[in-house]
Amino acid sequence: MKEAIIVVDMVNDFLYGKLASERALAIIPNLKNLLAAARAAGKPVIFANDAHLPTDPEMRVWGEHAMKGTPEAQVIAELQPADTDFILEKRNYSSFLETGLELLLRTLDVDTVVVTGLHTHMCCRHTAADAFQRGFKVIGVPDCMNAFTEEDHLSGLDYLKNVYGARLVSSTDLAAEWTAS
Ligand code: ZN
Repeated sequence: MKEAIIVVDMVNDFLYGKLASERALAIIPNLKNLLAAARAAGKPVIFANDAHLPTDPEMRVWGEHAMKGTPEAQVIAELQPADTDFILEKRNYSSFLETGLELLLRTLDVDTVVVTGLHTHMCCRHTAADAFQRGFKVIGVPDCMNAFTEEDHLSGLDYLKNVYGARLVSSTDLAAEWTAS
């Protein structure tokens, strides 16, 4: 099994800007530790960042956020990507839609996608859907994802588990598995 970690929308607008929430901030330390463990174990780290154009469909629902080329669409300083990480721009909920993510995963020989970031029941769920439907196994890390409410977070996790057969595992347990392997 070869996993890659997808870090969804951990960009400034989601943590400190228009879509900021305390719940989102709470996952930063866990995610930082998990990314360090992934890099140490040779697991690819892939950031999938909103980089919107004003014409994108999401503008009708959320208004302008994480607009392409702005500081608000940059990964937060706490999770500064390493030189070996990959950074993809997305314009929809799913990290797979027109981003080149599938080709990247195939060429890295990845068969399992570890979903982290924001928000559990939206972009994480859509990313998990596309991973599952393309034949990848899905792992969800509950303490490295969040949503605006606990209810949405938990319903998102349930959906990953029940519909995509995702394995849900804590960041500390996953990091320990990687260290041991
Ligand atoms: Zn968006």
